[in-house]
Amino acid sequence: MAVKRVAVIGAGAAGLCAVRHLKARPDLFEPVCFELNSRVGGTWIYNDKTGLDEHGIPIQSSMYKNLRTNLPKEVMAFPQFPFKKSLPSFIRHEDVLAYLESYAEHYDVYKHIKFNHMVQNVTPAMKTTPPVVSKNTEDGWKVTYCDVRKQDVSYTEEFAAIFVCNGHYAVPLSPVIDGQDKFRGRIIHSHNYRHSVDFTAQRVVCLGAAASGQDIAIDVAHSAYMVYLSHNKAPLQTFLPQNVEQHSGIQRLTEKSVIFKSGEEREIDVLLLCTGYHFHFPFLTGECQVDTTDERITPLYKHLIHIDFPTMAFVGILKTICPFPLFEMQVKFFVATLDGTFKLPSKEKMLEDTEIDFKTRQEQGLPRRYAHTMGTRQWSYNDELADLANIERIPKVVQNLYDGVHVMRVKDIANYKKINYELIDSETYKELGAET
Ligand code: FAD
Repeated sequence: MAVKRVAVIGAGAAGLCAVRHLKARPDLFEPVCFELNSRVGGTWIYNDKTGLDEHGIPIQSSMYKNLRTNLPKEVMAFPQFPFKKSLPSFIRHEDVLAYLESYAEHYDVYKHIKFNHMVQNVTPAMKTTPPVVSKNTEDGWKVTYCDVRKQDVSYTEEFAAIFVCNGHYAVPLSPVIDGQDKFRGRIIHSHNYRHSVDFTAQRVVCLGAAASGQDIAIDVAHSAYMVYLSHNKAPLQTFLPQNVEQHSGIQRLTEKSVIFKSGEEREIDVLLLCTGYHFHFPFLTGECQVDTTDERITPLYKHLIHIDFPTMAFVGILKTICPFPLFEMQVKFFVATLDGTFKLPSKEKMLEDTEIDFKTRQEQGLPRRYAHTMGTRQWSYNDELADLANIERIPKVVQNLYDGVHVMRVKDIANYKKINYELIDSETYKELGAET
């Protein structure tokens, strides 16, 4: 079989993992990774600035200065590549960046990356568009890219397959709130949150209580006068700093205040939107036939492989997961389809599988935007991919610790990061009170 050139878009954790596993098979694959930054690490490259970078490109990273991981390093690591033993369980963003750099070094990934290169366009190099029959096409893809320092000159190359690894925490999703045009305070999205001191002595509403909303509420409370954590969930049963109050969602804003759905009103200075992000693939042309309506990406088999063009995969779009181990599982699964060790089902079967997954979520009352949210389902998903493509499963101890830490987080969000963990067995797991 001829060596296939494979494009990898992005050199964050997902892209690095893709290159690592492709380059392990030099007889079959030649990976070329495009990265618009000048270094690896993606969202872990902290940037004090917000807005546009020196090349006029929106800053991708959503990291803030004091961020420490919300998962312990013991579960975060790629299998077979642990974090440094000397680090505590919950580490700073710069430690994760250093880890990803050493991963790239260790697996000799750097030489496959074109830094400062941005993919502008991806289009199928198909002779027939759309393809009549879904198949492991040999026709491949045309990728157009430029050097970010000379954006007026573009280049186009052909590839047999594509890993889309461009991340999904770069384009803020901001709800429109009644009265926001009259509000005289600041409205910012968590994507642009950097330092708590920027909010010293202010009254801040954090809207949204997913992982980022909770973490940022705790962080900003170090400097803010008062923090109102506003969300539509049941109240979090956890210890919160004294100056953090929980409230229902926002009904509307006035010039100086917020009115919560409960009818309560508070004067505020800042509305901090912790309301998530859009999936964004600006480089995919219409011919790629990828739909992202209401944050559901279709048509994807196992949240990963394009059903109509199965030589394109989207690694890492899943949410509420243990990212690095899951990325590796997805990468190995896609590689198995490319090297022929796993044969994808028919197009009809893949569509059916996807619809069953989506309908199950709908029956559970989940809105469409939760189509790629996993939580506890991530473990059966990982095992399913592993078993289908004959890949080693993620060890159960990873799930045990992930679930155990979740229990600790729910109980005491302000302090659970002070503990150091080890990968735990089932007995300890039960002692932590985690549900099986
Ligand atoms: P990214 O890291 O976003 O990388 C995507 C890369 O693609 C970037 O380098 C970008 O420059 C590049 N790119 C984009 N478009 C183009 C283009 N057109 N051409 C070329 N290159 C392009 N995970 C954990 O495991 N533990 C945590 O504690 C944790 N905390 C988090 C906290 C925050 C605030 C955020 C935002 C995320 C956190 N995550 C955490 C999740 C984190 O996103 C993943 O761990 C992981 O790093 C995502 O990697 P990625 O490769 O999918 O995306």
